[in-house]
Amino acid sequence: MAQISVPWANALGQLAGAVEILGYEEGLHEMLATPRREINVAVPLRRDDGRVELFKGFRVQHNVSRGPGKGGLRFHPSVDADEVRALAMLMTWKCAVVDLPYGGAKGGVGIDPQQYSERELERVTRRYTSEIMPMIGPERDIMAPDMGTNEQTMAWVMDTYSVSQGYTIPGVVTGKPLAVGGSLGRATATSRGVVHVTISALAEVGETLTGATVAIQGFGKVGAHAATIFAEEGARVVAVSDQFGGVHNAAGIDVPRLLDHVAATGSVVGFDGADPLGNDALLALEVDVLVPAAIDGVLDSRTAPSVRARFVVEGANGPTTSEADAILAEKGVVVVPDILANAGGVVVSYFEWVQSNQTYWWDANEIEQKLADRMHSAFREVAATSRAQGITLRDAALVIGVRRVAEAHQIRGLYP
Ligand code: GLU
Repeated sequence: MAQISVPWANALGQLAGAVEILGYEEGLHEMLATPRREINVAVPLRRDDGRVELFKGFRVQHNVSRGPGKGGLRFHPSVDADEVRALAMLMTWKCAVVDLPYGGAKGGVGIDPQQYSERELERVTRRYTSEIMPMIGPERDIMAPDMGTNEQTMAWVMDTYSVSQGYTIPGVVTGKPLAVGGSLGRATATSRGVVHVTISALAEVGETLTGATVAIQGFGKVGAHAATIFAEEGARVVAVSDQFGGVHNAAGIDVPRLLDHVAATGSVVGFDGADPLGNDALLALEVDVLVPAAIDGVLDSRTAPSVRARFVVEGANGPTTSEADAILAEKGVVVVPDILANAGGVVVSYFEWVQSNQTYWWDANEIEQKLADRMHSAFREVAATSRAQGITLRDAALVIGVRRVAEAHQIRGLYP
């Protein structure tokens, strides 16, 4: 059998676990495991110096039974077909867990965006969009930012798509700049959702966020906002890290000052209000809440045995391998899974799409309230299933997501 990658093997393993609990037959399992549509494209780039380089691009629609495909666009050197498949599958369950009328999709280009100029990234984005054009659209498949992309990337996708169709179509992407139909609250939504589910998880054991200690691995779009919001909500952020290293202060990091340091230097490393700390040491800190908010697979069979956090709240997609999941469960660590914990981003993406489609924009309070309600009610549902069936929160979230997708599939029936 061909070698399959770790993220895809993890995603398939998680699905198999849910299917077993649900008692589905093999045909349905196979349908749920198989991406509905995939496209591989070549993305040539003319560099600023005139040389030509070629990148591989992908868009996978894992499932569209509940609505259009939905999911981010990732620019990262590790992107390959299997990684994008795994992330598309996660999006299907994620959208279903928070009950959005979407399927799951993901796109990626195997490029390290840090090595290219803004103009080069614009050309890559536009060429990629043009290559996958037949697959996307506000009723077909809606992109959003992910690792290595941002609201500017979404503006280029939206512009390329709109120009090709002859009129402005904001609903083809979410996570856009406010000036072209973005939503208030989208930029911080994933992080805010992480904080909401943490509050819910602590409430389950009769605790609040006030004074709870938090360590955050990753200081990008998710981790940095999460640090800010955790601190604003009364938690003690004791450690953060990025790809260059980490910092630790048991008394609590002054997050606004840290943000100034990162703005000035590009990293948390060297911050004078905390001591240096390695990434592995951060994962092993004795804290109430550990938030992996960077790349996938950081909690594996090597790092998981040293985890001393009581709760792991997955800000990233796929940060915990299947082996690590078993180790953490054995140790009694409560893992709030990615498809629930980081769903705040796609929830506000949905709000953005709804606002775009009705061309009427909501105020920040309304968005914040609706996000909080969705995250807390999704958490309550997952926790109730977990208790009722004696399964982990991850299995409970998967069972809910997979069941909703399977129901839609079965009620629609097969064509022809
Ligand atoms: N990339 C984000 C995720 O993995 C957001 C996806 C979206 O908003 O469509 O959830």
